[in-house]
Amino acid sequence: MVRELMEPDPRPVIAFAGGGASAALAAVALLRATTWLRLPYRIVLVDEHGRHARGAAYSTTDDAHLLNAPVKTMSALPDQPGHLAGWLRRNGHPAGPETFPTRRVYGDYLARTLDETARWAHPYASLETRTARVESARPTAEAVELRLSGGGRLDAAALVVATGNSTEGSVLGRAAPPGTVTDPWHPREGVAALAGCERVLAVGTGLTMVDSALTLTGANPRAVVHAASRTGLLPHAHRPPLATPPGLVDLASGQNGPLPLRGLVRRLRAAVDAYPGDWRHVVDSLRPHTQTLWQGLSPDEQRCFLERLSRRWENARHRMAPETATRVTLLRATGRLRTHGGGVRGVVPAGSALRATLGDGSVVEVDAVLDCTGSAPGRAPLVARLLADGLARPDHLGLGVHTCPRGALVTPSGRVSRRLFALGPPRRGQLYETTAIPEIRDQAEQLAQRIADTVLRDRRDAPTAVV
Ligand SMILES: Cc1cc2nc3c(=O)[nH]c(=O)nc-3n(C[C@H](O)[C@H](O)[C@H](O)COP(=O)(O)OP(=O)(O)OC[C@H]3O[C@@H](n4cnc5c(N)ncnc54)[C@H](O)[C@@H]3O)c2cc1C
Repeated sequence: MVRELMEPDPRPVIAFAGGGASAALAAVALLRATTWLRLPYRIVLVDEHGRHARGAAYSTTDDAHLLNAPVKTMSALPDQPGHLAGWLRRNGHPAGPETFPTRRVYGDYLARTLDETARWAHPYASLETRTARVESARPTAEAVELRLSGGGRLDAAALVVATGNSTEGSVLGRAAPPGTVTDPWHPREGVAALAGCERVLAVGTGLTMVDSALTLTGANPRAVVHAASRTGLLPHAHRPPLATPPGLVDLASGQNGPLPLRGLVRRLRAAVDAYPGDWRHVVDSLRPHTQTLWQGLSPDEQRCFLERLSRRWENARHRMAPETATRVTLLRATGRLRTHGGGVRGVVPAGSALRATLGDGSVVEVDAVLDCTGSAPGRAPLVARLLADGLARPDHLGLGVHTCPRGALVTPSGRVSRRLFALGPPRRGQLYETTAIPEIRDQAEQLAQRIADTVLRDRRDAPTAVV
């Protein structure tokens, strides 16, 4: 029996570094795309925190955290837009297409959908999970050797980098006082670790700050959160009906190629002015075109957008559930959430507390600082390691990695990798809109096809060992 367990499994392994929603959606897509081919292989999801299928966004246990997008957009299956709604109904969570369930329940949905798809794919394909960090990858002629934390090793036929939105490198840089929480979603050292604090400075005023403020004020009735960002703008609320009529912005390009950034902004403004309904519809109508529009801009225009316009765009684009907005309004009305524009000038120790000087001139004493700004997929340690090892090259803006259209990594010499792929946030420089479920779901489909075509069919007879 022991010998049997020690024997290497000959089936090729498709490994995912990072086991979050991106990995789950890609694993589902791969299982669905290949089962009829009767290819034997193993999917192994390796997640450093054991947040398999949920990742940072959907592993929260705080039911104040709702989805930021309605049910109708969040199905895991692109060909079944009503799949999530049906699952919710069958599992005792009454929900309509325009409701916003808790992220915990959505995490359950992803995990169960993945499990059920894997059961359906049995006995050809199988699904395994491991709790470890993928430290490095080394392609060989036959496989890619993965080094895992704790001294483990995994030989895979392909590796998908699904490391998500890294929080490495606080915006506060050296000004961050010791003890600053840089990853609000860390299972042990994140916002939950500050649950007893009465005064917290949150850096950032976006959706992560909102969720953190809900957790902190929910855990401690005396807690007050100061939230500071350059603009001081809170997210807008979704406003039903959540219609997205197409074609509200004139995107017809001129004779000289794609629309320049200035022309795009002008047309967006004109569409908002001319539209008799809610401005949100105009913004949402651009969503299916965002990646193409982004790729039509020159690198200089993309940089200009990132520096000057992206904060406003993100604020208009990423909105909170109406119920969340009601809670935020109450927190602000009772002084428990206070927003500040102008950013953070400095934080210094003041006895047992910290004194923060904010850009709007306020000086506040707090017990802890929580960095809610993090989204630096290119700084994820594994991505940095792949770049340093010459296995990947950065995208032209240095936000993540350079990939080919179906997700294969491109090396510094311009070679398209046959074994290394990326999915979700690490593709931000090339796609811009690549962090939400609808876009990741589309990428997952394309990636699955690519892996089926170029990795699995080739590997039918080549053994791959797990050590
Ligand atoms: C709080 C929050 C709420 C959101 N709400 C919505 C929403 O309502 N609707 C929507 O469409 N989108 C939403 N999003 C966006 C989107 O769904 C997520 O960004 C998406 O889940 C990204 O998934 P991911 O798997 O790429 O990354 P992550 O969720 O970050 O998962 C990556 C996982 O990989 C692990 N990891 C990293 N490096 C390694 C390594 N080297 N080895 C092993 N493991 C590693 C990480 O710890 C993490 O568990 C939300 C995002 C956040 C953060």
